[in-house]
Amino acid sequence: MSIAANIEKIKQESNPKIKLIAVSKTQSNQEILEAYNSGHKIFAENKVQELCTKQSELPSDIEWHLIGHLQTNKVKFIAQFVHLIHSVDSKKLLLEINKQAAKHNRIQKVLLQVFIAEEETKFGLSKDELFELLNTLPNCNLSNIEIVGLMGMASNTENELQIRNEFASIKKIFDEVKSSYFKSQNLFCELSIGMSSDYLIAVDEGSTMLRIGSLIFGERVNK
Ligand SMILES: *Cc1c(COP(=O)(O)O)cnc(C)c1O
Repeated sequence: MSIAANIEKIKQESNPKIKLIAVSKTQSNQEILEAYNSGHKIFAENKVQELCTKQSELPSDIEWHLIGHLQTNKVKFIAQFVHLIHSVDSKKLLLEINKQAAKHNRIQKVLLQVFIAEEETKFGLSKDELFELLNTLPNCNLSNIEIVGLMGMASNTENELQIRNEFASIKKIFDEVKSSYFKSQNLFCELSIGMSSDYLIAVDEGSTMLRIGSLIFGERVNK
């Protein structure tokens, strides 16, 4: 199937209210343009350098998301244009994003990444770390940041029940955070869960943003 047909199929299988984010890491500009020309405008990269290069070469009305681990010293390269950073996992990073966003007179939208998988290798905050961070934020004066939700990755496993439980756990954390810290703020509304292998489970468990790469563009050649 074509890239456009893949996007259409995923949209039909999810829900019109759920945002589909096309994960374009390792894909060429030509492949991205194929999706773009079919009407898709939301793309995500996991590396700052690749994101910056593609942003400079591709149409300016693309909404770019960063989904990979972000180092503090690289925030400055994306602060001018990135639409949403999914992978914020420390106060230090929040402070730097705030500082860089202020330089460009922007309000930067971010998600806090929560660790829900069994693997040791995934980034993100534990539930305790998340609440600890949220508790200290009122003293930080982050006037150029909007925290609009949470992001998580399930374990890389065939065990659907485990994946479902992991997504259910982050949805529960989302609801707790919402009622404790963002009760009257409609802005806090996004739950970024679900990739190619598990997006249907994520839709069931309350995803509002799907991050899908290989199901749209085909298997990635490992770089
Ligand atoms: C690569 C990546 C995805 C998409 O993975 P696919 O399996 O190709 O859909 C989603 N989220 C993150 C954080 C990624 O790095």
